[in-house]
Amino acid sequence: ASRLAAQRQQIGRILAPLKLTLDDLRKVQALLRREMELGLRKETHATSSVRMLPTYVRATPDGSERGDFLALDLGGTNFRVLLVQVGSREQGGVQIVSEVYSIPPEVTQGPGSELFDHIVTCIVDFQSKQGMVGQTLPLGFTFSFPCQQMSLDQGILLSWTKGFSASDCVGKDVVQLLREAVQRKQHFTLDVVAIVNDTVGTMMSCGYDDPRCEVGLIVGTGTNACYMEELRHVGTVAGEEGRMCINMEWGAFGDNGCLDAVFTPFDRQVDEVSLNPGKQRFEKLISGMYLGEIVRRILLHLTDKGLLFRGRPSPKLQTPDIFQTKFLSAIESDGLALRQVCGILEELGLHVTCDDSLVVREVCQVVALRAAQLCGAGVAAVVEKIRENRGLKQLSVTVGVDGTLYKLHPHFAQNMQATVQQLAPRCSVTFLQSEDGSGKGAALIAAVACRVA
Ligand code: ADP
Repeated sequence: ASRLAAQRQQIGRILAPLKLTLDDLRKVQALLRREMELGLRKETHATSSVRMLPTYVRATPDGSERGDFLALDLGGTNFRVLLVQVGSREQGGVQIVSEVYSIPPEVTQGPGSELFDHIVTCIVDFQSKQGMVGQTLPLGFTFSFPCQQMSLDQGILLSWTKGFSASDCVGKDVVQLLREAVQRKQHFTLDVVAIVNDTVGTMMSCGYDDPRCEVGLIVGTGTNACYMEELRHVGTVAGEEGRMCINMEWGAFGDNGCLDAVFTPFDRQVDEVSLNPGKQRFEKLISGMYLGEIVRRILLHLTDKGLLFRGRPSPKLQTPDIFQTKFLSAIESDGLALRQVCGILEELGLHVTCDDSLVVREVCQVVALRAAQLCGAGVAAVVEKIRENRGLKQLSVTVGVDGTLYKLHPHFAQNMQATVQQLAPRCSVTFLQSEDGSGKGAALIAAVACRVA
């Protein structure tokens, strides 16, 4: 019994650095707040790890938007073309027809012109399937990579992420690349009105149903957020009146070293072997692409110390990415019997005892809880800034959210919301899951642009 107690103690010591106190989270919130200010100001912009990119989206929907729009969605797991019909509520509101097109790796990683030719081919196919040949609808292009925008329909690609690496695109205006591909095709025209980040699309699509929605949040493969900032605070854009949506690119928070106290050796290992070492450090603590891998690293370490699997690692557990983030969700499902946890682990080729599965479950809980709390600290920094911007004692605000990790993990949403409540007590924050944010949101931005124009 005392040997068991000693083991428990050792495991506790190994997991301790992953458990953040309220004070740790307050520090993260304050750090992000500082980085936000630096990123917004023209003189300090380059020193911040969060880019705070202006999006030229100046208003959320007011419900009066109408019309038919095309939308493209590139940057998630699939490429999609959508026809979005925005009508009055009596007409059924927003109706969407869409097609998913796969983009083979030789295209996402080949010459840029071929990537955009492929996109145009997909649009042509979609239009002919929908009986829309010859029609030129306003188009919103959801393009979920960091872009420096100079206007609503101009965006220079700053870097590829998420496995894309098509050549001759970084440093170029993505809308221009699309228009050039259109010109290479005969008898075909497009009217690109807006380039849209997926966070902004998410905020806008939720904003159509809830006018208090002024923040967009993604917790999927990666993580990012956007919010409505006072234009007078946006040093990189001329003008004083009104507001503009800022794409924070918060996944990169900490890339300048400011979060180093939070990273554990496990996080550093995951970063070092990633496709982009040293980059997207906040994202690597939070999003679906990394949580499973952090858990796997911890399990390997515990096995190494003889605290798990009788000290014998299975060859399978040595395989990178074998422990997917969806296993975290499965293992933490409410009411799941310990025997079922064993079942999940057996599938990974691990022969586990009851004690083992208890430990694995604890590791999953600790990693997912930390992710949710860090994300919550980020949201708290954002909503507190909005409240202060407006000189309000109390702010009611809605956050539009998308992403499979947020939607499917059994405790992520709840844990994140609890942290927001603790860290931003003067904000009452509602979270709204977006339905098809990228497509619907891009169309609504096109619609708002057409309404304002
Ligand atoms: P994207 O962000 O590319 O649009 P998604 O929002 O669908 O894509 O998120 C994909 C991520 O969600 C993957 O990293 C995957 O690990 C994670 N994921 C898939 N299923 C689950 C699940 N059941 N629970 C938690 N995470 C999941």
